[in-house]
Amino acid sequence: MIFRQLIDPESSTYTYLVGCSETREAVLLDPVCEMLERDLAVIRDLGLTLKYTLETHVHADHITAACRLRSLTGCKVVYPAMDELPCADIGVSEIEPLSLGGMMLKPLFTPGHTDTHHSYLLDKGGTTRVFTGDALLIDGCGRTDFQSGDATTLYRSVHDKLFTLPDDTLVYPAHDYQNRHVSSIVQEKERNARLGNNRTVEEFVAIMDNLNLPYPKRIDAAVPANLRCGDCSDAEVASLPEDLSVQG
Ligand code: FE
Repeated sequence: MIFRQLIDPESSTYTYLVGCSETREAVLLDPVCEMLERDLAVIRDLGLTLKYTLETHVHADHITAACRLRSLTGCKVVYPAMDELPCADIGVSEIEPLSLGGMMLKPLFTPGHTDTHHSYLLDKGGTTRVFTGDALLIDGCGRTDFQSGDATTLYRSVHDKLFTLPDDTLVYPAHDYQNRHVSSIVQEKERNARLGNNRTVEEFVAIMDNLNLPYPKRIDAAVPANLRCGDCSDAEVASLPEDLSVQG
């Protein structure tokens, strides 16, 4: 398996490249529009063919590179089926996983940050990884105060789905704002200040209700563009306001 964690420094978004070493097919999870040339260069350098882009959710802090990558490479754009996006080629769900070479990306329905958010589980070579999107961040989680977010729902997703994965499952989040790269399920169960250490749902909801985060500056431009799988002009991308404060 070929694996890279790539970052967009502007939105602190992690894009993950997963490739099959036998078929040379690859998927990009949560690609960012502004990082398209970088991602294509990495794919080229590794001798891979981009087969899919795959999104954890409709993002509010960046515009996906999905439809631009489709135009340039012929890849298929994959979203959670629940999003019902006409621009998507394939919809995935817990009963409709995505296969790539000899691998399987298994969707886990993890709502709460948004109501259609999915994480993806990848079991390969004795290592289990979960791409948690904005459901579970390292010592944190995505916001629940916009885009159909709901703190109680997020608590249930994390506790009932993610925290029941094997302890040594590696956690790869969609963002980190402090240059951390990877965690594990046991580490988050023990140390996550919002969700770990046996926090109750009431404690979690109180924490989320009192974050007092500013309105996300990019949401009004990013969400409509992402509902079109990132179909937008260069001018729209260039005019995205700077926003380093968003959490997911
Ligand atoms: Fe998000």
